[in-house]
Amino acid sequence: DMIKVNDNFTLLSPSYLFSEIAKKVSDFQASHPDARIIRMGIGDVTRPICQAAAQGLRRGIDEETREDTFRGYGPEQGHAFLREAIARDDYKARGIDIHPDEIFISDGAKSDTGNIGDILSAQCRIAVTDPVYPVYVDTNVMAGRAGSLQPDGRWDRIEYLPCTAANGFVPALPVTDPDVIYLCYPNNPTGTSLTKAQLTEWVNYALSHHALILFDSAYEAYISSPDVPHSIYEIDGARQCAIEFRSFSKTAGFTGLRCGYTVVPRELEGVDSKGNKVNLRQLWLRRQTTKFNGASYVVQRAAEALYTPDGHRQIADTIAYYMTNAAMLRQGLSQAGMELYGGIDAPYIWVKTPHGMSSWQFFSTLLERCHIVGTPGVGFGPSGEGYLRLTAFSSHQVTREAVERITHQY
Ligand code: PLP
Repeated sequence: DMIKVNDNFTLLSPSYLFSEIAKKVSDFQASHPDARIIRMGIGDVTRPICQAAAQGLRRGIDEETREDTFRGYGPEQGHAFLREAIARDDYKARGIDIHPDEIFISDGAKSDTGNIGDILSAQCRIAVTDPVYPVYVDTNVMAGRAGSLQPDGRWDRIEYLPCTAANGFVPALPVTDPDVIYLCYPNNPTGTSLTKAQLTEWVNYALSHHALILFDSAYEAYISSPDVPHSIYEIDGARQCAIEFRSFSKTAGFTGLRCGYTVVPRELEGVDSKGNKVNLRQLWLRRQTTKFNGASYVVQRAAEALYTPDGHRQIADTIAYYMTNAAMLRQGLSQAGMELYGGIDAPYIWVKTPHGMSSWQFFSTLLERCHIVGTPGVGFGPSGEGYLRLTAFSSHQVTREAVERITHQY
């Protein structure tokens, strides 16, 4: 007999988005060898890690290289020094009560947002905002929760919550009574955020419908608006209905180093198929201790060093650098008469395609006229059609040049 595979994986079509973009860009470069192409498509950072993080890394290396301070396996949940620093600076300092025992250190938010489904029933009904970070959808396809793919690009067991200019990118509450709702704010790809009042409606909905909110705040560090919450736990009742995911990737340039964390409050409870109450934090601890052996020690030392006065200041400088780019892009694109969103509490600008062009048509026009690469919004979900994402992660110089090209050549 041949090896039987997990059918759910065969439901997923290959992700064409970034390979399709790469192909179109390389074709264009081949036919325009002199074009200096500016890439504002892929969401990776460009600034190096800060000195504080480098010092933390070196400390970790020194400890690992000495007999008396060598560390091998650590606690699967993460070292207490890091969990305590997080609880102190990311939560207590904001008046939020999160215990270090409720924090789980990992190699990043992609793993955690993807793995969290392990502790949820295969029967759970899912809701996602649309457009969406594709990991939420694809991991539910892998778990058999998505149903089948419709011609319109939607999975029939997932409720899609459209976020468009028409609703100000604030999704309407679900109508199918989902068990699990993924929210990502500040949002990738739209770059928009929810105010405390708006997020409160979601917490209240989840509490009254016994739904679980999976709150991805990978872009928390980019928030500057005073009415945008930095954590879902700023909202009363969120400890009873929400898991929060954070990442050092975009906060501190850890996209290569890899570190993030997940908060599972003690109060969170679910129910098994026999009707017994089950504590979600216990389940996640069990999942992690079984399948995960902890994040790298030296990387945890690097992350710890971000929670020092130097670390906080250096991170803030880098974020300010990117947000200066975002402001340049916002200003330049508006001057060119484009309609755009985001870029205030997030490093992404969500551009409405001019003259009713499709996402891909605008992608090609921008590439041909300005030699700039964006990401077609439709690649993030059906409601992304008619939009294009630009990132603020380039250098000032490159961003300035992009803005000049758009204002003069578009
Ligand atoms: N969540 C969102 C919304 C993201 O945009 C990203 C990265 O692009 C991640 C999670 C993944 O972050 P990490 O690098 O921590 O895995």
